[in-house]
Amino acid sequence: MVRIAANAVYQAEQIFENALNNRDKFPTAIVFGSTVNVPDQRRFGDYQHVRKYVNYVLAHPHIRHVYPTRSLKPVKVRVRKGPNKAHYERSTSTIALPDNRFGMSEVTVLHELAHHLSDTGGHDALFIKALDTLIETMMAPEAILLYREAVSNLTTTSE
Ligand SMILES: [Zn+2]
Repeated sequence: MVRIAANAVYQAEQIFENALNNRDKFPTAIVFGSTVNVPDQRRFGDYQHVRKYVNYVLAHPHIRHVYPTRSLKPVKVRVRKGPNKAHYERSTSTIALPDNRFGMSEVTVLHELAHHLSDTGGHDALFIKALDTLIETMMAPEAILLYREAVSNLTTTSE
């Protein structure tokens, strides 16, 4: 069984996001033995753009297929104080994001949407599956390779 520690999820995302953010300097990466172009991620100008994107993701046919119940539940987006953290409020299905480069980025929004779709506050196997599905469905094809490699390098096998 594959087990990933909670902070390892953040570490993998950090490695993944650093690769995306440094694509000007390092436009290619070696992933599972092959060289791929490092893709860009969407950046949002304001909260209205984030809301549009969130609705677009929830209405995507593949997301609807994999998460038929959760994708029908609307997600609210609001401003969050504190520059370095975003979170998902389960009780109100609300994503709270800081108004900066971190908060207004696709990877941050997909992380919080993974909480919504998996209906979990933590970073368990269901959360990881949801984030994997979102990156694979919504981002460039190279993105999921980069993310999976980052996760696989942090995975520890137990029992
Ligand atoms: Zn989280």
